[in-house]
Amino acid sequence: MKITAITTHLLEHRLAQPFQSASAYFDSRLHLLVEVQTDEGLTGWGESLGPAQMNAAVVAGMAPGLIGRDPLETEKLWLETYHRFRDPGQRGLTITALSGIDMALWDLKGKALGVSVATLLGGRFFEVVPAYATGGFAKPGLARVDDIPAELQRYKAQGFGAAKIKIGFDVDEDLAVIAACREAIGPQMRLMIDANHGYDVVEAIRLGRLAEPYDIDWFEEPVLPELMDAYLDVRGGQPIPVAGGETWHGRWAMKDAVERRCIDILQPDLGGTGGFTEGRRIADLCALHGVRLVPHVWGTGVQIAAALQYISALPPNPPRPAPLVPMLEFDCTEMPFRQEVLTQPLAPVGGVVSVPDGPGLGIEINRDALKRYRPEL
Ligand SMILES: [Mg+2]
Repeated sequence: MKITAITTHLLEHRLAQPFQSASAYFDSRLHLLVEVQTDEGLTGWGESLGPAQMNAAVVAGMAPGLIGRDPLETEKLWLETYHRFRDPGQRGLTITALSGIDMALWDLKGKALGVSVATLLGGRFFEVVPAYATGGFAKPGLARVDDIPAELQRYKAQGFGAAKIKIGFDVDEDLAVIAACREAIGPQMRLMIDANHGYDVVEAIRLGRLAEPYDIDWFEEPVLPELMDAYLDVRGGQPIPVAGGETWHGRWAMKDAVERRCIDILQPDLGGTGGFTEGRRIADLCALHGVRLVPHVWGTGVQIAAALQYISALPPNPPRPAPLVPMLEFDCTEMPFRQEVLTQPLAPVGGVVSVPDGPGLGIEINRDALKRYRPEL
């Protein structure tokens, strides 16, 4: 089998209600799917995290080196492609573009061999994965302290057992939002907070100390992702477990954070950290250092399927009769093509999602949706 084409598909949706984290303002959703075609008619799908048009340009730059190659040689193609772009791009777009290609190659390999990616990765430890709802963004014109608790009550009514909200705007206002959310959802539902690196160390430590009574599972991206020493200060200075990793691309970016124990929970994104080829190595790095891994997910059903395959194959660490199952991050914000790109939706039912057991990622792409959401550039 040989690769004959690598095509990118941009998808865009203008939001009816814009929203904001501490690091980004969203008035549209723009994502990139990567399609790898072969001379045997098999097609693989992947997705890249980050600026979609820029990822598309880098994928186009990588494609000529992959045409005519055997798509089953995932390790070889990853290394050769990375090495070709290593000097100018050890982080960022080189890795995010390569992630989309690698994800598509693993999808193809699974289809060629008739097994799911989780089986290719070594076996399916979990067939059902609990999902947590990601939302709780600031929305212009709405008071966060009223709007976000009501949003979380809707997630609870949908069956989610956990949810994550956005903070990192102002410590006192954020604490009021956290308190109101805990009050609204009651003591059982899990609650996580994500500052999207909106605080400095002093603010993050103060927030973490004062938020402890609200039973928070993790405190995500408290400070700027470049500042490993600041992560260490936050981890040592307040009691909530610290999470991070969605902006760290590739194993070398993860190495310091894990080895120096800057985080309790690493959150690699398969579409950003190098696909399954690199994701597997990062899982080993976490296991080696006893760091919990909960993948980051921000994208379409392709990303969701990839995360499910990855989670399913993560060896429990430690193994025990009822081991901890890493949660699936499920973005609940407005994005109609999240599910429409799939012929079969991959959404939580009663707060859990079944891992697809078809070959590759276990999904089929709805090409009509690709046309419907293609942006006019
Ligand atoms: Mg985050």
